[in-house]
Amino acid sequence: MEIKGASHFIQDIIEKDLESGKHDTVITRFPPEPNGYLHIGHAKSICLNFGLAEKYGGRCHLRFDDTNPRKEDPEYVHSIMHDVEWLGFHWGDHLYYASDYFGEFYRYSLQLIKQGQAYVCSLSPDEIRSYRGTLTEPGINSPYRKRSVQENLELFQEMKKGSFKEGEYVLRARIDMASPNINMRDPVIYRIIHAWHHRTRDAWCIYPTYDYAHCLSDSIEGITHSLCSLEFQDHRPLYDWFLEQLGVSCHPQQIEFARLNLNFTVMSKRKLTQLVQSGHVSGWDDPRMPTISGLRRRGYTPESIRRFCDLIGVAKSDNVVDMSMLEYCIREDLNKRAPRYMGVINPLKVVITNYPQESSEELPAINNPEDEAMGTRNVPFSRVIYIEAEDFREDPPKKYFRLAPGREVRLRYAYFITCQEVVKDQETGRILELRCTYDPATRGGDSPDGRKVKGTLHWVSAGHAVRSGVRIYDRLFSRPNPIQDEKKGLALNDTLNPASLQEQQGCMMEPAVKGLKPGDILQFERLGYFCVDPESTPASPVFNRTVSLKDTWAKIEKKMQG
Ligand code: ATP
Ligand code: MG
Repeated sequence: MEIKGASHFIQDIIEKDLESGKHDTVITRFPPEPNGYLHIGHAKSICLNFGLAEKYGGRCHLRFDDTNPRKEDPEYVHSIMHDVEWLGFHWGDHLYYASDYFGEFYRYSLQLIKQGQAYVCSLSPDEIRSYRGTLTEPGINSPYRKRSVQENLELFQEMKKGSFKEGEYVLRARIDMASPNINMRDPVIYRIIHAWHHRTRDAWCIYPTYDYAHCLSDSIEGITHSLCSLEFQDHRPLYDWFLEQLGVSCHPQQIEFARLNLNFTVMSKRKLTQLVQSGHVSGWDDPRMPTISGLRRRGYTPESIRRFCDLIGVAKSDNVVDMSMLEYCIREDLNKRAPRYMGVINPLKVVITNYPQESSEELPAINNPEDEAMGTRNVPFSRVIYIEAEDFREDPPKKYFRLAPGREVRLRYAYFITCQEVVKDQETGRILELRCTYDPATRGGDSPDGRKVKGTLHWVSAGHAVRSGVRIYDRLFSRPNPIQDEKKGLALNDTLNPASLQEQQGCMMEPAVKGLKPGDILQFERLGYFCVDPESTPASPVFNRTVSLKDTWAKIEKKMQG
């Protein structure tokens, strides 16, 4: 089924602006703070910003919002660039850092001071907070609000020189402490931070706040449409205020859209950092993480993530997207391109008693029934094979069509076999192996006499098998909305899914998997889509399960309609 991402309100705005001549091109930006790895929510913003620029023949800047040296790190800068490129987007010559504009920001703040629109405040951070008022009560003017322009200029220069300790002074915009919008109550625009910056080193010890730096960076770069998530809606008056007071020639339009929320996971970098630091996951790229790097290691393709972003659309109100939608997108993509293999996760030995000893043969198998061009390969067959333990039942329940005593089933691409005997451990009763016979006339999987079997099993020749590890992943959290739970008092650690990772050793794969390399995607027939883990080696291959084969599209479709 083909579903197209619908056109949305931001496109409408852009098209109007192009038609009216307000703009003759579209310049957007993606402005991450390098304080963590990107997650799937960022992918939505990346696809939107780069996608719009692409669609209207404009450009999109990658700008690092590196205004808080305490939380930022070059490691994050590199990972972010890698992730954006991996998703398939290009910033060309337009890579920027807010820190490149520190000089300009500073000059603009001198202008604000001279215009009487900024002042140095000596209240402590706690006092500033308590003077700010609440949603129902206006704030109280700072006693330092009336400082003279001269005094403000002198103090601000001293702040810049490093004469003060952190928290002793801040520079604030002088707007309106009684504004119904708390963001307009004399917001801080500069604070003292004595920290090493990854780019400007020790050149500065005063750093601009997000609201101040963001609108100015947009303006300096000539951004036409500044897209951000809904929580910045109440900041928009401030965005506009700075640009109006400073009389800049470029005043971009801030437009807000709903951020992506996914159930059964968390999406804020702060929470994700917690998971990494507490060791609950193996790192930012743990395949259970909603990070781009985690999804990549899990086997997600850039195409599937872009498709997902297209499907979820762009709206003005918050909602929670079902994880199964993301899974639908990767299944749809991998179904088209993942080569098929056979592998057995829980091996049960089967001896085919009428197959010649020491003999083996090669049986042709289709690499991808969805794509003939992917051709065929040969799978070795021999007297001793493995099947999946759960594909045999001594007492098969109704509607169980797989192997059982006396029953005949098909081995995929091979023969019909019939179970003749179950060999058990005398003491424990555990099943050690099955003894079966095969029908040589059914080679390839069809019976010349028209005999039908209901079950088809995957299998691997024991003598040729590649012993491997398999990691089966499930949702990271066992409850759909861990953040809401946290607000109700449930700790994040307590809502983690204890079974989110199951590691299986001693799995047996067909020998063709030797040709795969780390990062490659594949399907193990009947088991799901997998990818070769980056740490996998030929001596000890490891496969991560990306997603099971089960298609839950019907369910998703219902949800989307309802
Ligand atoms: P987080 O809360 O996860 O730390 P953030 O907004 O602080 O996210 P930034 O690095 O500031 O992270 O984000 C860069 C851009 O990505 C911003 O424009 C932001 O609006 C956007 N973005 C972040 N999270 C989401 C999301 N869940 N859905 C859509 N866009 C998002
Ligand atoms: Mg942020």
